[in-house]
Amino acid sequence: MTDWNQRQKRKQDVTARAALPNHMYGYCRVIHCGKPARAGTPDGLDERYCRAHADHNQRHGSPLKGSYTAKELNPYRRAALAWIVSHEDSRWVQNAIQRVKGLYQQAGPYVEAFRLRGLPPQQRAKAALARLRKHGIDPRLVLAAWLAVEMLIQDDPQPVQGAEFKRVQAAKVVHRMASGSHRRWVREVLSPVWPGQKQAQVQELHVYPRSRGRVLRHLGESLESAVELLVEHHLSDVQAFKREHDAAAVSGARPYPRAWVSRPRQKDDEKT
Ligand SMILES: [Zn+2]
Repeated sequence: MTDWNQRQKRKQDVTARAALPNHMYGYCRVIHCGKPARAGTPDGLDERYCRAHADHNQRHGSPLKGSYTAKELNPYRRAALAWIVSHEDSRWVQNAIQRVKGLYQQAGPYVEAFRLRGLPPQQRAKAALARLRKHGIDPRLVLAAWLAVEMLIQDDPQPVQGAEFKRVQAAKVVHRMASGSHRRWVREVLSPVWPGQKQAQVQELHVYPRSRGRVLRHLGESLESAVELLVEHHLSDVQAFKREHDAAAVSGARPYPRAWVSRPRQKDDEKT
């Protein structure tokens, strides 16, 4: 009788323990995903999503929505830069430029991409800013990248709201501005053709820092702190400028809208 009771109790314990991870971590928060959430990912704990959605979130700042493409971002970046250049005297433009320069100066020493491995994300975010400084990236390009992301999210019919997606998207653009580290050297190797002979062989190493994970969150947070007052005071002006710019570009490219035809096209027209 005692034996049976003990076995029964042990069985209950095991069942309870097996159920524990689910109670602790639950399921992926993406609707209809249904997979258990992954507690540990290579880049830290993620108790919200399954492996696939956690990975997507690390790369793009959203478990489902992909990153904006260069084609989508470029018109916004061009317009934002043109606005900044023509409003250089503005107090808030000056303020934001100074803040980006401040980030550059506080980023610490330049670290080659070869040596980033193993550094905590916050350090790698600083290293990204130090690379921008080293490569002489104009702070106005950094500001334009952020403003472009702000505007694109507002124009997106299915946007992802919230700070994280915005920070990650802007950080990805800015991260890309400072290239990786490259090394090239010559070493002597044994000739595969002539036994005992040596020949020179060119070795190359190209390392691009990973653009994912918490690095992007930290970098995005820093960028946001530099640009937030400019956004607060002038985002609507930049948006208006872009709309005017778009309208002017369309009317400048052709004298009248595409659907309008002044006279029927003839074959001879194409030859002249
Ligand atoms: Zn999932």
